[in-house]
Amino acid sequence: MPCPYGNTGKARLPAHRPGGTFLAVLILVSNDDGIRAAGLQALETALKPLGDVWVVAPDREQSAASHSLSLYRPLRVEQIDDRHFAVDGTPTDAVNLAINGIIKQRPDLVVSGINHGANLGDDITYSGTVSAAMEGTLLGAPSIAMSLATKEPGADFSAAAAFAARLARRVLAGGMPRDTLLNVNVPAIAAAELRGYLITRQGKRRYGDAIIEHLDPRGRKYYWIGGDDLGFVPAEGTDCTAVAGGYISVTPLHLDLTNYASIAQLNELGVEWL
Ligand code: MN
Repeated sequence: MPCPYGNTGKARLPAHRPGGTFLAVLILVSNDDGIRAAGLQALETALKPLGDVWVVAPDREQSAASHSLSLYRPLRVEQIDDRHFAVDGTPTDAVNLAINGIIKQRPDLVVSGINHGANLGDDITYSGTVSAAMEGTLLGAPSIAMSLATKEPGADFSAAAAFAARLARRVLAGGMPRDTLLNVNVPAIAAAELRGYLITRQGKRRYGDAIIEHLDPRGRKYYWIGGDDLGFVPAEGTDCTAVAGGYISVTPLHLDLTNYASIAQLNELGVEWL
């Protein structure tokens, strides 16, 4: 099967900025909560002083879309405003289209979010917010995923947005480890109560039998995934422990999912080969 990323690299992208702004820093902002989300607007406002900010985001809520790419249907793009585009696809579609089709330029930085809800521990694998940053990483741009750890309506994104701007400034100046994205989670507490930030590792969620079964008005069964929040396994140095303790969590993630420690053990398996 052809790799959808096979031909997207530095070499194909033009060396100048569209519009002739040669020196401006180019920042792409996307999310999975949709282009009208308050967290996206807070992020855009906070990043504007750092460069030319382009917003290319799904036209509606796409939370838990994971890293899916729409390969079997056409995608439509609606230009909302100058440098604002809504895509009728997933967060991954939005970032891919932004870089390869709309801006036609690799951004200096991709920032996804600010998600309305945490992306911690095992939940990362479902996250559209993190996946948008993954797509940025795959396409060669330093990428950050930002989440505010609350689902409360009317949440205040300002502290998270301010931290995003400070972090972005450092990343733009100092770069990032190769093939690595930063997954940032900000506790939903008053800015004055934030205790700082910690570099963390990915934690572990407690899973329960979180399926709700009901009957619809026509008497047919339906299921709803996601019941009680059972929380996380408390462990030192993890993202969830940091956020629970009032710290902003910054987890470096890489896209190489290989479990290196198990390679030797698996080599001992000795599966028969005819
Ligand atoms: Mn979301």
